[in-house]
Amino acid sequence: MITIKSAREIETMAAAGKILADTLALVVSHAAPGVSTAQLDEVAEDFIRSHPGARPSFKGLYDFPASLCTSINQEIVHGIPSKERVLEDGDIVSIDCGVCLEGLHADSATTAAVGEVGEDVQRLLRVTQEALGAGIRQAVTGNHVGDIGHAVQTVAEGAGYSVVRELVGHGIGTSFHEEPQIPNYGRPKRGPRLQVGMTLAIEPMVNRGRPEIRTLDDKWTVVTLDGSLSAHFEHTVVIESDGPRIITPVPATTPA
Ligand code: MG
Ligand code: MG
Repeated sequence: MITIKSAREIETMAAAGKILADTLALVVSHAAPGVSTAQLDEVAEDFIRSHPGARPSFKGLYDFPASLCTSINQEIVHGIPSKERVLEDGDIVSIDCGVCLEGLHADSATTAAVGEVGEDVQRLLRVTQEALGAGIRQAVTGNHVGDIGHAVQTVAEGAGYSVVRELVGHGIGTSFHEEPQIPNYGRPKRGPRLQVGMTLAIEPMVNRGRPEIRTLDDKWTVVTLDGSLSAHFEHTVVIESDGPRIITPVPATTPA
């Protein structure tokens, strides 16, 4: 069932989204060569819990052990933070996080360059963000879920990349994963119709090579089958009468 949120629920989700956006900005500011993904996870958890009533959505969700998913280079999503995984100059790291405030969730992800990366890698990050933006612009009342996926796919594949098929965006609210599923591919005017008050996590995962994936023996980390780089950007969006409202906006300055 696709739920329609009340104005009060949406404002609580927006407050969660603000904490989350600030968390991601803070974590990105720490993502430098020599820093472990466990250190990033600690930064995130401490910052989230410093807000009364807020907790990391991921910790314990399906028994996931951390507050962040940290996925480096060919890792797409669901990487587990570890003291052993130290960022190196030239890496990209996808940072995915959720915040639960008063029982309502927000979900967002970004992919950061560590130190210096080449223009080709910057292009992958830029195109993935553009694909997310194109998807979000389709999140308007009267459109369908397929319009979002189609827009994402058009941007990503138009740039010569591929989109992951097996992992999708989702509705979000009192549960972290709600209906509808939001694939990053699709056909216009197909799938559930979008309505005012729906809250959606839109999250393109874009591979520089082929779209196929596999899961590592840790049962969590999803990687590209061909070893190519992958980027992941995500926002939680509310469908409002005058258009999509991003409730996890990137802050202008890094929170202290
Ligand atoms: Mg996420
Ligand atoms: Mg999500």
